[in-house]
Amino acid sequence: MQLTLDVLREKLTAWKGCDLAKTANAVLGEGNPQATVMFIGEAPGQKEDELKRPFVGAAGKFLDELLASINLKREDVYISNVVKYRPPENREPEPIEKEQCMPWLMLEIALVKPRVIVPLGRHSLMHFFPAETISNAHGKPFPITDDMTIFPIYHPAAALHNGNLRSSLKSDFRALGEFLTTLS
Ligand code: URA
Repeated sequence: MQLTLDVLREKLTAWKGCDLAKTANAVLGEGNPQATVMFIGEAPGQKEDELKRPFVGAAGKFLDELLASINLKREDVYISNVVKYRPPENREPEPIEKEQCMPWLMLEIALVKPRVIVPLGRHSLMHFFPAETISNAHGKPFPITDDMTIFPIYHPAAALHNGNLRSSLKSDFRALGEFLTTLS
């Protein structure tokens, strides 16, 4: 059977390899299966768990606005998370939960083959650059190969109640939009 994102979603729904699967629904990423840009958040929240879709709550609305500010729609990009299940009470994911869910994210990246990966916030950034901080790395392109660049940005949820982070996120998205125009 050929592995596609739809097959991956079915497999994840049947998977019991993470303790969080006992208490939450599986939430794989969604969007353009051939997206140039892939956004990776931390873990689903309550709304995401209910609807089994990533970034559909308050942080997701802000993400939609930020995407619109650089003329992108959700359907143009691919949006996912490091952890595929909502941690109870929206606590931070444990390191073991991030590790257990990592194969799913790696398969998503391998299938979509994005040119630009945008880790949203420090949990996602840590997967790519464990020694970096989001306050230092945000808003800048880090080329990995000729075909792939990591472009970290603050998590939209962190900016919902913090005006400074909000304006930083907006300018990081402007920088991301400009970077995208340089891709051939
Ligand atoms: N925050 C995340 O990191 N992911 C979601 O899907 C929603 C909120």
